[in-house]
Amino acid sequence: MIFIQDLFWNAWRALRNRSRNRLRQWIGFGLSLGLFNVLLLLNLQPTIAAWSTQVSPAQPRLGDTLAVTIQDSTGQPPRIQFAGKTYATHTMGPNRYRALLPTTPLDRPGVQQLQVKSGSESQVISVSLGARSFPTQYITLPAGQDGNVGDWEFDQVDAFKRIVTPEKFWAGKFIRPNDGEITTIYGVRRYYNGVFAEDYYHRGVDYAGDYGSPVIAPAAGRVALVGYENQGYKVHGNIIGIDHGQGIEGIFIHLKSIQVKLGDVVKAGQVIGTLGDTGAATGPHLHWGMYVNGQAVDPVPWREEGFE
Ligand SMILES: [Zn+2]
Repeated sequence: MIFIQDLFWNAWRALRNRSRNRLRQWIGFGLSLGLFNVLLLLNLQPTIAAWSTQVSPAQPRLGDTLAVTIQDSTGQPPRIQFAGKTYATHTMGPNRYRALLPTTPLDRPGVQQLQVKSGSESQVISVSLGARSFPTQYITLPAGQDGNVGDWEFDQVDAFKRIVTPEKFWAGKFIRPNDGEITTIYGVRRYYNGVFAEDYYHRGVDYAGDYGSPVIAPAAGRVALVGYENQGYKVHGNIIGIDHGQGIEGIFIHLKSIQVKLGDVVKAGQVIGTLGDTGAATGPHLHWGMYVNGQAVDPVPWREEGFE
C-alpha cells in the first residue's frame, strides 16, 4: 500500500512542479513583453550590434569544450583568438557561426580573454575557466625505461588529430563506445618515479570491456585513420580515427580487430572494431580519446549534454 501511495504522491508532485514551471515561464514572457513595450514607447530600442557572441557552458571547467556562437550579419565568417591560438568558425545557419574550442587540464584556471574578429572589428569577451582537480597516479618505471618511442607513429596520429573538415557529421549526444566499466577517467595526472609529469594527462577515457567485445562509433563520421600494430603502431596498437567534422576527432586504440576501412562513412552505434590489448596496453581495454581542434577534451559533456 505504501508503494501505491508513493506513486500517487510522486505523480501529484510532478504535476504541481510542471504547472509551477509553466507559470514561471508565462510570468517571464509577460515581463519581457512589458519591457519591450516600454522601450518602444520611450523610443529607446536597444541598439543591435552587427554581431553578438555567446559562449557556453556558462561556467566552464578545465577539460570542457567551449562553444562560441556568433550572430554576424557582415557576410563573412568571424575568427576567434583564444589562449594564443586562432580558430576558424563554421557556418551553422544564416548569419550564424560557431567555433568549438578545447580546454585541457594543462590550461591555467581563471579569467581568459576571448577575441572575436569580424572584418576589421573585434570584440573581447572574458571567459572564466573554473579549476578542477583530477585524480593522480604514481607510476614507477624501472631504470633504463624512458618510454622512448619512434616518431613515425605519433606523426601519423598527430596529423589525424589536426584534421578540420568544414562539414559536421555528428548529430545529437555521443554514445559510449563500449559496454565495459570505466576504469580511468579523462584528465588523470601522473607522477613518474616521484616526479610530477607536467605535460601528462590522461587524454581520454578507458573502458575495461571484455576482450573481443564490440567497439561502436559514438557518433557519425568518416574514418580518417586506420593503423595496425604490425605496421608500426607500437604504442597505440590497432587504431581507428573517426573525423566527426568541424575539428572534432575521435581515436579508438588497443583494438583487437578493425572492421572499417579508410574513407568509410560510419553511423552512430555502428560496430567499428573489437576491444583488445594491442600496443602499449597492460590488459584488454578501449581507450577513447576525443580531440577538439587538436587538443584532447573531456568526452563526458559530449555524452551527457551534447553539442548542436
Ligand atoms: Zn587510456
